[in-house]
Amino acid sequence: MGPTGCGKSKLSIDLATRFFPSEIINSDKVQVYNGLDITTNKIPIRQRFGVPHHLLGEFNPSESQPEFAPSDFRPLASSTISSVISRRKLPLVVGGSNSFIYALLAKRFNPSLDVFDPELYPANPVCTELRYNCCFLWVDVSPPVLNQYLCERVDEMFDSGMFEELEDFYTSGEVDSVSQSGLKKAIGVPEFEIYFKRFGSRTTRTDPQVHDVYEEAIKLIKDNTCQLAKRQLWKIQRLRDAGWDLRRIDATEAFRAAMGVSGSDSGSRRVSDIWERQVVEPSVKIVKKFSGD
Ligand code: ATP
Repeated sequence: MGPTGCGKSKLSIDLATRFFPSEIINSDKVQVYNGLDITTNKIPIRQRFGVPHHLLGEFNPSESQPEFAPSDFRPLASSTISSVISRRKLPLVVGGSNSFIYALLAKRFNPSLDVFDPELYPANPVCTELRYNCCFLWVDVSPPVLNQYLCERVDEMFDSGMFEELEDFYTSGEVDSVSQSGLKKAIGVPEFEIYFKRFGSRTTRTDPQVHDVYEEAIKLIKDNTCQLAKRQLWKIQRLRDAGWDLRRIDATEAFRAAMGVSGSDSGSRRVSDIWERQVVEPSVKIVKKFSGD
């Protein structure tokens, strides 16, 4: 568990390769759809190191209407867990959508009650009885450090082709065919709506007007990503306050180091060492203790 950008996917692969054989079940509500792989930050195939992933890019957004909901996730993720266990493998549930994690794990789940509704605060209707014996790992990063990283990540996503991905999405008409699905809400899609409505595709950004609308959309994406992380953290605190035994792993140092690195080999090695020592090793220890190893 953890907010967007905190390294959940990386840690899940580190754990899956140590606790072999494991399989990963995605719990990010936007990543369940196929398409927009850069925009939604799906872990690339080459970084999966052969670990099987479930409910990741499995649903066609134009056929998944209305939106794939927590109440849809509950039975699907449960049957995936059963199938992983029946093959004598360890299921790892990984993703930032706390409403999905809650729907899957709460013993008593009421689809018409949003337990994370801030209006209910200070009442906390989170169910503390769980359907599974779970070991929870929460990857935490200090908010100022995470926010700085998230803004840099947006720039990197655009360097890797996020604009072209969104341009295809808008100009191919896919945006209309997925109108009711959750993919349309992925951060990047609503923020670029004005841009593509006004300028269509293949516009040159040297035109100052185009340039300004583009920069405004990028700024909005950065702001909305930081807001998402803040909301996700609030939901995690809610589960913890109710008594869910979430083990906190502090990844701040690894993020600080990663942001100060110029791309040199020794710099990257230093980041990997910190990640290994401060994130992977404590996580492995917690999982081993949990499983009585
Ligand atoms: P909520 O209860 O608000 O739906 P949640 O915990 O179920 O929250 P979140 O993962 O916080 O789910 O996602 C809420 C919204 O954040 C999504 O609808 C989408 O707009 C955006 N979002 C979440 N994950 C991603 C992602 N991987 N890529 C892009 N946008 C995302």
